[in-house]
Amino acid sequence: MGKIQSVKGMRDLLPPQSEHFASLEEEAARFFQRYGYSEIRTPILEETALFARGVGEETDMVSKEMFSFPDGKDQKMLALRPEGTASVVRAYLENRVGERLSLVKWYYLGPMFRRERPAAGRYRQFFQIGAECIGVATPEADAEMLEMLWGFFQRVGAPGLSLKLNSIGDAVCRPAYREALVRFLSGVAEKLCEDCKRRSQTNPLRVLDCKREECQAATREAPVPIEHLCEPCRAHHNRLLEILNLYQIPYLIAPRLVRGLDYYNRTAFEITASQGLGAQDAVCGGGRYDGLIRLLGGPDTPAIGFAIGLDRLVLVLEAAQKLSSLPPPPLFLGFFDKNGQERALLLGRDLRREGIRCQVDLRGGKLKGQLDRANKLGARFVLLLGGDELSRGVAVLRDMAASTQEEIALDGVIAQLRERLVRT
Ligand code: AMP
Repeated sequence: MGKIQSVKGMRDLLPPQSEHFASLEEEAARFFQRYGYSEIRTPILEETALFARGVGEETDMVSKEMFSFPDGKDQKMLALRPEGTASVVRAYLENRVGERLSLVKWYYLGPMFRRERPAAGRYRQFFQIGAECIGVATPEADAEMLEMLWGFFQRVGAPGLSLKLNSIGDAVCRPAYREALVRFLSGVAEKLCEDCKRRSQTNPLRVLDCKREECQAATREAPVPIEHLCEPCRAHHNRLLEILNLYQIPYLIAPRLVRGLDYYNRTAFEITASQGLGAQDAVCGGGRYDGLIRLLGGPDTPAIGFAIGLDRLVLVLEAAQKLSSLPPPPLFLGFFDKNGQERALLLGRDLRREGIRCQVDLRGGKLKGQLDRANKLGARFVLLLGGDELSRGVAVLRDMAASTQEEIALDGVIAQLRERLVRT
């Protein structure tokens, strides 16, 4: 029988990479909490209908890429979540959070699933850290979120990032814009790819961000939403830019950056990396979605959110050598006999209770074997709990880097060890 392998597009995260993921997750949590965000954890499985409605049946994510299957007696369709926002909004409504709080700031982190073609930086299970700010429509809310994101990326040391920003209008100005765009697209229809021919009818805005060269060439002169904003959308956008300037956050206006669904409005953004990613260069995407909560059965409620692709952020930071992993344990406890072993087991427990990292040898046997193991682990010190010394109330502390050793008293040994570990 052949070996069972991991599923296509899904990978194991082993140390030290798993530590890189964990440290970024902790850093994000701590950073976002300073802005008043708290964590929400939603289930990984949801009804497929949630994403069909909340993300849109027209999107590739829902129509082609969902892991969706019938479940149970009634064969209800369930799906592994392809993104976080729909679940967060469902949880917000199901728990009637809006009735108690007029402003909700939540962050989430965890795996997402999309059956995409695997490539460098593109997986079928990948991790996102996202945040949603629900209840406020002001440009200040958009600006605060972008400042938080920018600050986080600066803090973790991600180099070469650009913030791309656009406004895609709202329910007032979009219909006229959409009409103008459809008119333009019908004039160039024969030059578009098959997907875009279809999108020209169903989801024309998405034609603007088609990556195919023929579509980009054909739509070079197409009208763009930012040039068709109504007065309130224009004012919102201008105020956002004013605050970004105040924060001195650099941005590029990207008139073709769109979110193709009706419930998205005004601010849309993306953060791309110039190093470490190649073709899959987006590390974060987000935007305002004032229409989604109503679409999912709630009252009209403004909201804005983003999702960072953690796998890609790790790639960027690894390429820039900005990630460190846990250093080796500074201390290894060895022994010669059963009595020494039991002293080592107890001392190991007590050191760890005191917050000191150490490894107790679990195999025993010859001293040389124990020292070899300590060396392999990279331990700086080895404390040897030997029969003869133990009866005198001391143990031998060996400095592996200096190749020296000394006796230290077992009375107060934890304080002495701590002092030595701090010194080195
Ligand atoms: P989206 O939810 O599509 O706006 O994606 C937000 C971020 O998640 C992107 O900017 C990527 O960094 C990341 N992402 C999306 N899809 C994948 C994938 N298949 N593999 C790895 N990262 C992804």
